[in-house]
Amino acid sequence: MSSKIKVINPIVEIDGDEMARVIWHIIKDKLIFPFLDIELKYFDLGIKHRDETEDKVTIDAANAIKEFNIAVKCATITPNAARVKEYKLKQQWKSPNATIRSILDGTVFRKPIIIKNIPPAVSNWKKPIIIGRHAYGDIYKCSELVIDRPGSAEIVFTPFDGSTRTILKIHDFNDKGVIMGIHNIEKSIRSFAKSCINYAINEKVDLWFGAKDTISKQYHGFFRDIFSEEVENHRSKFEDAGIVFRYMLIDDAVAQIIKSEGGMLWACMNYDGDVMSDMVAAGFGSLGLMTSVLVSPDGKFEYEAAHGTVVRHYYEYLKGNPTSTNSIASIFAWSGAIAKRGELDNTPEVVRFAKILEEAVIKTVEDGIMTKDLMLIARPSPERYALTEEFIDAVADRLEDLLGK
Ligand code: NAP
Ligand code: MG
Repeated sequence: MSSKIKVINPIVEIDGDEMARVIWHIIKDKLIFPFLDIELKYFDLGIKHRDETEDKVTIDAANAIKEFNIAVKCATITPNAARVKEYKLKQQWKSPNATIRSILDGTVFRKPIIIKNIPPAVSNWKKPIIIGRHAYGDIYKCSELVIDRPGSAEIVFTPFDGSTRTILKIHDFNDKGVIMGIHNIEKSIRSFAKSCINYAINEKVDLWFGAKDTISKQYHGFFRDIFSEEVENHRSKFEDAGIVFRYMLIDDAVAQIIKSEGGMLWACMNYDGDVMSDMVAAGFGSLGLMTSVLVSPDGKFEYEAAHGTVVRHYYEYLKGNPTSTNSIASIFAWSGAIAKRGELDNTPEVVRFAKILEEAVIKTVEDGIMTKDLMLIARPSPERYALTEEFIDAVADRLEDLLGK
């Protein structure tokens, strides 16, 4: 084989758990190392190593992303009580994604991969619908209370400067009921809006934002106003990129999304993003086709697959049984990171390699070679499905061909 393509600056590599970790290493050995001369700053976030380091490795990884700007991450276990027992953990460590996200102050964008013979459930969807979810506050950081007797519920705001309190009535309860207090902060909404604007301008896709400001004039109106202000500040960049910003009521946005051909970034409030990202993922086929990137307002990027560690497949793998786990989203995490590295380093041959890697994956599926999850939704459906490693081998063959090796 001829010489490898040189990547000038390092990429932070974050290893993970279970079946995702198994495919991760096959991808590196067969699709990355044979072709690239690349330095990886490696962090092992496998659950055992997080436990051994008291989760310090997660913080070290996040700081490395700050230093080197680009990272690629394998899916990791977020431990619950059952996992603490299974892996004999010292404690129920926090979600690594939440830790990294809070250190980078980033926004997560999820984008499906479109392949001709994997038709979306919504037949007019032709281009990816990208979802940006505001991942701070609202009902995810709320105080709530079940009301078990008659009484009066109020919102009280007490200023730290000693000025007059504000008291608003929520409801006078004559009977049982329930209440909730939620909040958000301007800084977080603004950096969310900025991240969405950067992403839309970078990818040259229209930006949509939906809220319910007709009903929630203050809370949702606050989001709408900040979004509009930030868009106004970037007006000329929108024009240069040939893209538009649309504000809609959230219910209108949902209807418009279904009727659209895709190709927009849909910025969502926290709860909407949680719900709609799963709807969009299911609509485009399989979790194995959903990519995810964490973008910070100051331009750090962490690429990963949206799916988890695919634990059921891993237990089969441990028993020595054959598996058919879809590696596409993980491969695209690598290609996404490599392309962005090449872009920042100004090395077009690196960007080109990443694009060819993606082409090789798509060609493999279009040639009828795919894992079981895709076989069920492919049109036409292939006669058999590929095993985990068979699929990656088929991609490697096409990658070599396309690179002209
Ligand atoms: P999951 O790993 O995404 O898997 C859910 C199911 O979706 C799988 O059992 C499988 O269905 C299907 N699936 C997902 N990815 C697939 C792929 N690449 N190829 C084929 N099928 C795929 O979610 P989970 O079971 O809820 O979570 C497992 C672990 O992952 C948990 O410990 C969780 O904390 C962690 N997790 C991590 C991340 C992350 O690091 N970003 C995200 C989500 C979850 P079948 O079993 O029917 O084949
Ligand atoms: Mg969800």
